[in-house]
Amino acid sequence: MNAAERLDKDYVWHPFTQMRDWLAEPQLVIVAGEGVRLIDADGNMYYDGVSSLWLNVHGHRKEAIDRAIIDQLGRIAHTTMLGLISQPAAELAAELAAIAPPGLAKVFYSDSGSTAVEIAVKMAYQYWQLKGVATKRRFVTLANAYHGDTIGSVSVGGIDLFHRIFAPLLFPTVQAPSPSCRHCRLAGDPKRCGMACLAAMEDILARDHGEIAAVVMEPLVQGAAGMLTHPPGYLKGVRELTKRYGVLLIVDEVATGFGRTGRMFACEHEGVSPDIMTVAKGITAGYLPLAATLTTTEVFEAFLGSHTEQKTFFHGHSYTGNPLACAAALANLRVFREEKVLAGLPAKIAAAREQLDALRLLAHVGDVRQCGLMIGIELVQDRAGGVPYPAEAAMGARVCRHARRYGLIIRPLGDVVILMPPLASTAAEIGEMTAIVRRAIDEVT
Ligand code: PLP
Repeated sequence: MNAAERLDKDYVWHPFTQMRDWLAEPQLVIVAGEGVRLIDADGNMYYDGVSSLWLNVHGHRKEAIDRAIIDQLGRIAHTTMLGLISQPAAELAAELAAIAPPGLAKVFYSDSGSTAVEIAVKMAYQYWQLKGVATKRRFVTLANAYHGDTIGSVSVGGIDLFHRIFAPLLFPTVQAPSPSCRHCRLAGDPKRCGMACLAAMEDILARDHGEIAAVVMEPLVQGAAGMLTHPPGYLKGVRELTKRYGVLLIVDEVATGFGRTGRMFACEHEGVSPDIMTVAKGITAGYLPLAATLTTTEVFEAFLGSHTEQKTFFHGHSYTGNPLACAAALANLRVFREEKVLAGLPAKIAAAREQLDALRLLAHVGDVRQCGLMIGIELVQDRAGGVPYPAEAAMGARVCRHARRYGLIIRPLGDVVILMPPLASTAAEIGEMTAIVRRAIDEVT
């Protein structure tokens, strides 16, 4: 056993991992990265097919980002934002406001997607208290939502597996149905159902808006639920409803932001400007932990007052606005501009779609869902009857493990195999990754 593997197994507790299985099986030690590939301790190369958990954008060891971090290290690694200004944090806030959907003008930093959502929830709650509308204390959330794993972000999530055990610690929310057509129990085909999911949201807002602070949602696709895509127009519809009923809209772009869906932010596909938007993951191109919660001047100004009025937003972390991470984020945005990354995406997304069409024909593929370069391939025991595999078959995990033999690192969400290539992957590389997924499914199912 490799020395790092021994140390890991002796000392490390891994996230979202059943450690009994982890300890029992041989594990891969990653020692380096190069472009869209990872390199293990024996020198084997693998495609980074989940972008190191949906983070990596321009590939590993991207010269421009490496250089920006080294340059920043030559100045200072960290300084507090309590009572001081950090130059990279100030510059980045201006750039984020410039590229965000119109109206989002203020940036509150944190260091993970979960904390960005936690902040969004507290901000929306305090906003209404400061506006003197004390009744607006509840949140509308979506079934199947994932917004992170701190207590507040779990509270606004909707995946039972992650919630059940912590239920007594969570604050209750009003849950609207998931707008995913795949598992819709409302009316089925969005072309004919007139979007019953949106009607259900309207029922809630019409009934409870006096008590609702905000609707919290992932735009276009519920990623961690298994890439459940939403019908076009749902996001825009929710924006219209929240405006009509005087409720804030919090859009969580932690997974979808920074080009993942083909646009810089998913909101752009439907011309939506939320009141609060959370970003993380791709913000530093997958280099360093950083997140941001963006909001409007309208929300920001509600927090202005004299010291004694106690309108301050009492939230912050030791590493808030870390200069190294902000320098990486600035370099990330520079690469987006200089290499015209967004302009190159439609061709890559179309190439992926073409490859995925072939997967749809496999006997044990029940559905293939794609939103830009976010891809979920749902495995089923019987396609005709839509019968899932029994949980103990762990088919998603088996397919992903098998794919490693052919040089692809991917991870399942239940029986949905997730493929999230870095945006820097070429169409040919995406084709190779898809071909490996196909081969693994063929051989395992
Ligand atoms: N929000 C969404 C939509 C996510 O997909 C995730 C993570 O997958 C999070 C929030 C939590 O982000 P983090 O893991 O950085 O806390």
